[in-house]
Amino acid sequence: MKALKYYGPGNIRIEEIPVPQAESGEVVLAVEACGICATDIKTFQRGHPKIRPGSGLGHEISGVIVEAPGSGQWQRGARVVVAPYVPCGSCPQCLRGRYSLCPHLFEEALDPGGFSEFVRVPRRLVSQGMIALPESSNSTAICFAEPVACCLHAFSSIDVKARESLFIIGDGVMGLLQAEIGRWIGAHPVIVSGITPERLKVASAVADVVIDARHEDAGDAVRRATAGEGADKVVVSVADVAAAQTALAVVRKGGAINLFAGMPAGSTLPVEINRIHYDEVLLTGSFGFGPNDFRKAVELISSGKLDVMRLVTASVPLEATIDAMEKLVHQQGVKTIVLCNHPAGQ
Ligand SMILES: [Zn+2]
Ligand SMILES: [Zn+2]
Repeated sequence: MKALKYYGPGNIRIEEIPVPQAESGEVVLAVEACGICATDIKTFQRGHPKIRPGSGLGHEISGVIVEAPGSGQWQRGARVVVAPYVPCGSCPQCLRGRYSLCPHLFEEALDPGGFSEFVRVPRRLVSQGMIALPESSNSTAICFAEPVACCLHAFSSIDVKARESLFIIGDGVMGLLQAEIGRWIGAHPVIVSGITPERLKVASAVADVVIDARHEDAGDAVRRATAGEGADKVVVSVADVAAAQTALAVVRKGGAINLFAGMPAGSTLPVEINRIHYDEVLLTGSFGFGPNDFRKAVELISSGKLDVMRLVTASVPLEATIDAMEKLVHQQGVKTIVLCNHPAGQ
């Protein structure tokens, strides 16, 4: 079968490798679709501390079961979506309900990775991370389950609510997805700032106020949109310390900020402590998602409550994955989905 393999920054290849085999309790899927995530792009560009050379890439998958030995519950031919990681359920962090902090989160992973014709799903992911899909569900849309789950986790950390203003800094796919989710929650106004014309155009379909940060001061625009008060909730969805500073400047008294994007290692943020003390601003962050976020994300997408398809700007065959990643490195398009079992040209 064909699979994408990572060998170091800028060094990704599509290779011919054996189809993985499932042991009892495991499952092999024919991958239908796999989303290209910002993490994949980052790994491609700069490498990733947790991804070893020789690994596969891709974790936002939907697929069809082709092998399920020793499992009464899962049948060949069933369509499923799989969480790329699940917590152990028994460590101190899991017992506190802080699943995204479980130190065992990445002990099991899709083999070799989602950008493959077939993947082996290890036992713990099968038992706790795999969800059956209706026959009619859209295999491309459901690839958003993991990114949506990450956004839901972030939103719960700052309690994003209906009728509250929500300011999202960043017009990448995560920022746009957050705007879509914010709108579903009923946040108002939803404000997005960014610097990429093509993505700002998409933003205008999901946000009430769109700020082109190349020409406009985000602080002024947010104050204008919130009767001078500042935003109730702010999400920093761009890996830029200046964006975190903007968040601190525009959040209202008693508001909350979620640092969603990972920053370069060693980044520091100067904070005027009295913003936290007198103004009671909550400054927090979030990483990944828990099992409930993932289940909720699948429900929101498959019921059509979220229209994630408007973020899909390209669908490509597996052979074109590297080319598609290069385009995304240059900020062309929003979300690209790789159709892993579709021959080129279909
Ligand atoms: Zn992802
Ligand atoms: Zn745990």
